[in-house]
Amino acid sequence: MRPLVATIDLAAIRHNYALAKRCAPGREAFAVVKANAYGHGVREVVTALHDVADGFAVASLEEAAEVRAMHGEARILLLEGCFAAEELPIAAQLRLDLVVQGEEQIAALLAAQLPRPLNVWLKLDSGMHRLGLTPAAVRAAHARLRGAAQVAELNLLSHFACADERGHPLIEQQVETFLELLDLDFDQRSLANSAALLTIPAAHMDWLRPGIMLYGATPFADLSAAELGLKPVMTLSAQLIGVREVAVGESVGYGASWVAERPSRIGTVSCGYADGYPRHAPSGTPLLVGGQRAALVGRVSMDMLAVDLTDLPEAQVGDAVELWGAQLPVDEVAQAAGTIGYELLTKVTARVPRRYLG
Ligand SMILES: *Cc1c(COP(=O)(O)O)cnc(C)c1O
Repeated sequence: MRPLVATIDLAAIRHNYALAKRCAPGREAFAVVKANAYGHGVREVVTALHDVADGFAVASLEEAAEVRAMHGEARILLLEGCFAAEELPIAAQLRLDLVVQGEEQIAALLAAQLPRPLNVWLKLDSGMHRLGLTPAAVRAAHARLRGAAQVAELNLLSHFACADERGHPLIEQQVETFLELLDLDFDQRSLANSAALLTIPAAHMDWLRPGIMLYGATPFADLSAAELGLKPVMTLSAQLIGVREVAVGESVGYGASWVAERPSRIGTVSCGYADGYPRHAPSGTPLLVGGQRAALVGRVSMDMLAVDLTDLPEAQVGDAVELWGAQLPVDEVAQAAGTIGYELLTKVTARVPRRYLG
C-alpha cells in the first residue's frame, strides 16, 4: 500500500467546537461542514459532533441531504440558498434553514408550494459585495416575507470580508450596517465566521458559523492556531521512499529547477500534487522527516516530492514524513506556499485514505 494517509483526530474537532462555544457563551453555533467538512470527511465529522453541535452549515442541497441522513434533528443551514426553484420543496422536505440572498430567490420562495414552511435567513450584503441584499432590499423583503405561508422563522445573516485582518476599517462598517437593521423584528441573527467569533464579540449575535477553526487551522496571518488554543485535526503523513547523494551542480526533479550548491542528500517522499500537495510550493517549504524539520527542494511531482536531508544524515528510506499536521501547522506550509490553510485542507484528494482517531 502506498505510504500516504491523512489521519483525522475527531477528539480535536470536538475540542475546537467546544472552544468556539466558550468564546461566545450562551450563543448557538452551526458547525460549517461544506466541502466534505473542509476535506476531513463529512460523515465522520457530523458523527463526531452529533450530540454536541447545535446545527450544521453547508453549501448545497446535496451536501445538506447527506447531513440530514446522518442527523434527523439538527438545524442545517443552506449558506447560499437554493440555486433553482425546484430545489425549494426538497429543502422544505429536508427541514433546512434557508439563506435567501437575492431578489430571484425571494420571488421563487414566495411562488413556491411547500410541504412545510422554512426557517429563512435573509442575507444582507453588509459590504463584501459577493451575495446578499442591500439594507433597503432587506427592509422590503422583511415586509413581504413576515407572515408569508412559506416562512417559519425570519432571520438575518451577513458575512465579513476582512474579519481575518484585525482592525480593518470594513469590519466596523459591516457591523454598523448589520446593527442598523435590528429595529426590524428578526427571530435570529448570525454574523460571525471563525475569525469574527475569535476576535469580534460585537458580532456574536445569536448563531455563530465556525468553519476553519473546527479543523484546527487559523483564519489569521498573525495569530497561530496554537495561540488561539486550537488543536490540529488533520495530519498528512507519507514516507521516504528513496534517498540519494547529489553532487554540487547536479539538479533535482522536473525542469531541473533546483541545483545542489553543496554535496547533498536528497530524499524522495510519497506525496505529490495529485494528492493535493500544492505544486507551487517553493523550495524551502518546511516538512518533517522523522520529526525533524527539513526543506522541500525542486518541483513537486504528481506522486512525489523531494526533500533536502543533508543536515539529517541519519534519515533513511522508510522514515515517516509529516507534510503538515500535529507537529507542523498546516498554516505554516500554506504561508510558505502562498496560500491559506483552507485551500490545503479542502484540496486533499480522494485517493488519500482518511484514517480516524477518537
Ligand atoms: C464558509 C463560511 C463560513 C465559515 O467560515 P470560516 O472562515 O471557515 O470560519 C461562515 N459563513 C459563511 C457564509 C461561509 O460561506
